[in-house]
Amino acid sequence: MTDTPSLPQSIVTGLSGRCPRCREGHLFSGFLSLRKQCDKCGLDYSFADAGDGPAIFVILISGFIVVGAALIVEVMYQPPFWLHAVLWGPLILIVTLLPLRLLKGLLIVLQYHHKAAEGRLERRP
Ligand SMILES: [Zn+2]
Repeated sequence: MTDTPSLPQSIVTGLSGRCPRCREGHLFSGFLSLRKQCDKCGLDYSFADAGDGPAIFVILISGFIVVGAALIVEVMYQPPFWLHAVLWGPLILIVTLLPLRLLKGLLIVLQYHHKAAEGRLERRP
């Protein structure tokens, strides 16, 4: 597949952790570490730099979910603090770890899709 994928195809490719060019090779070698290149088409992944983007999105989204849920439970039931720790500790792990990989794959594939790169100054002739 060498044709340019549509934006929805790129989003699905990113969320599934696949290569942005061939959509078949794997993007990750571990949980969050990238491969050096695609194992199917050989695309060099050195362009990929998601930076802190996935972490920021995960912090904002998971913070909204966990803090909101904790506030609702506290206001409605006033449980002891140990119950808060038991409830929200595992929820924090669930709502941070899984979306982190999904969002990293998504941002890298969207970076490839939109040909995003660092800005460069051009010299005028
Ligand atoms: Zn590939």
